[in-house]
Amino acid sequence: MAGEVKCSRCHKVFTDDAATVGDVFGYKRPTVRYQQCKTCREGDVTVQYYQAHRERIRAVNNEYKDLHREEINQRRIEKIPCELCGRILSKCHMKRHQATRLCEKRRPPTEG
Ligand SMILES: [Zn+2]
Ligand SMILES: [Zn+2]
Repeated sequence: MAGEVKCSRCHKVFTDDAATVGDVFGYKRPTVRYQQCKTCREGDVTVQYYQAHRERIRAVNNEYKDLHREEINQRRIEKIPCELCGRILSKCHMKRHQATRLCEKRRPPTEG
């Protein structure tokens, strides 16, 4: 029978198998799982961290943007097919496109 693992913070109990543990806790090192579940770890910890370091994080983000402007622009104009109608268009226009009649008209008829 599979054992149980407990989050050290919220004390929720999970099945002790690799898939669940990887999913719920994640691994710090290949054989060492985190003591807290992702919800606890990512939840308030990151928020607190963010609030404490807001200015610095912003500066770093801006710096990143400056350094990778090209790359970011590239990503912005990257074209992918619409999953509904197959039309090729840029990622950032996808949401807007999918709400239009144009997309609706082009969609293959749904079964049923
Ligand atoms: Zn937890
Ligand atoms: Zn479409």
